[in-house]
Amino acid sequence: MKEQKIGAGVPVGDRGGGDPLERQVINIMEQGVLVWGPDGRCLMFNARVYPMLEIGVDTLNHDTMRADFRARSVARGDISQASLELSERAIAAHQPYSFDRTLPSGRVVLTTGRPMRGGGTVVTLTDVTEARRVQQELARAKAESDAAEQRTLDILAQERIRRTEGRLLGQLNEWLQSCKSLDELYMVVERFMRVLLPGSKGELYIYSNSRDVLDGMVKWNTRDLHPNITADSCWALRRGRSYEYDEDGLCLSCDHVTGHHHGVAVREYICVPIVAHGDTVGLLHARFDTDSPGSARLGDKGAFAIRCGEHISMAIANARLRDELRDQSIRDPLTGLYNRRYFMDAIHRELSISSRRGSRFGLISFDADRFKTFNDNHGHDAGDLVLRGIGARMHDILTAGEIGCRYGGEEFMVLVPAADLGETVALAERLRDSVSDLQVRHLDSILPKVTISCGAAAYPECGTDIGDLLRRADEALYAAKQAGRNAVAVPPNGTPPPAAIPPPGTG
Ligand code: GH3
Ligand code: MG
Ligand code: MG
Repeated sequence: MKEQKIGAGVPVGDRGGGDPLERQVINIMEQGVLVWGPDGRCLMFNARVYPMLEIGVDTLNHDTMRADFRARSVARGDISQASLELSERAIAAHQPYSFDRTLPSGRVVLTTGRPMRGGGTVVTLTDVTEARRVQQELARAKAESDAAEQRTLDILAQERIRRTEGRLLGQLNEWLQSCKSLDELYMVVERFMRVLLPGSKGELYIYSNSRDVLDGMVKWNTRDLHPNITADSCWALRRGRSYEYDEDGLCLSCDHVTGHHHGVAVREYICVPIVAHGDTVGLLHARFDTDSPGSARLGDKGAFAIRCGEHISMAIANARLRDELRDQSIRDPLTGLYNRRYFMDAIHRELSISSRRGSRFGLISFDADRFKTFNDNHGHDAGDLVLRGIGARMHDILTAGEIGCRYGGEEFMVLVPAADLGETVALAERLRDSVSDLQVRHLDSILPKVTISCGAAAYPECGTDIGDLLRRADEALYAAKQAGRNAVAVPPNGTPPPAAIPPPGTG
């Protein structure tokens, strides 16, 4: 056998034997070479094996058994249990194998075994320390570049979300700004919140005029809406800033949330105060109470909900300001009734509609009785209080569509759409009756009651142009004064009822 010739169990160059050329070649090799016979005994090895495996000359000689040699390597920790089992299985099956062994110095040696014909294994040992270091380096560099790529993708995804949110907020803003009334604004909020916070349910509450409760104005993705809630029931309103609730956190739930959704687990929600010109005017509430797929959890949505709240706040502030300015231009500040200019516009509008449609409308002109004397006796301030009281009665009695106006001084007008003269007289009668009953407190006393006299006219019975109609209503008012005041009258030559109807016991 050639292996026997080269050297049995000793470094080939040390003891000689075998073909000198083969000996020279095998000893020149960079690799360690080790040959185990079919009986597991060392047949030959070259001199490189000692330094390669960092072992002394007594560890390996021609009597060394493979099993003992391996056991020492395993004991020293050169070979892992997995590599040991893998190579043993390969040897038993006459298959090649390879594994890395790590030596005490940290060097890594690639160990490759190939089966020989007739049994036994040729093992080559290659120092791959540098190659493995480079491989590790490459793997680390790749992991780093993968992580960097992932970070970039994350940033891009966030940027995409930010852009989408920005675009949606821009659209929300545009719609909010073009709303002509608060009602329109609430409708826009409802439509947008479904899209802006997908998977959320929520409500918008706005302080009522009395300011003791907040009225439910808008809801999205939910059928329930509190008619009203108190400021006390919400931590955001109590603390004056947005409040994020997370069932896993140490948060207290708001009463308006628990009270409203008995039994349903609300996992996360946010309450955002709606602030207009520094005044808290309402509350935006959005909650996330399911784990169903597609349902957004709060996270970044909290910050987004706050931005939605800011836009809604601004729009409400603008709408209120617009409403206030508009109100100032069309309303009388003392009574809150419409002013003369608005009334004249309204009556022109009504006449054009009625003449087109062939419908009718009524007019009431009324004036406080002997008001000059009242002022003389009780002072102008007391007179103002009475005028304000008359305005309040008109607010109570007139229904939507009926337009009450302070025409000037202590003279008032009412436009009554879709009414004939009889219906107009009936309404005037209710006004007269209500005012005659009015009690007004001034300083420490109750002022004497004041009465009004009313003239009623109607389109088309009493006239077909505005000048005529106003004149006819005035004539009727004069008739009521003539009839003794605290009375309702129609124009002297108008159709029924009779020209003046003095109330019982007067005139
Ligand atoms: P009549 O029953 O005939 O209407 O008698 P009158 O005294 O009410 O007479 P007239 O309507 O002509 O008088 C209007 C008075 O109403 C004059 C003024 O003293 C008073 N008046 C007009 N505007 C105001 C107002 O804004 N505030 C107060 N307090 N008084 C007003
Ligand atoms: Mg008058
Ligand atoms: Mg008067």
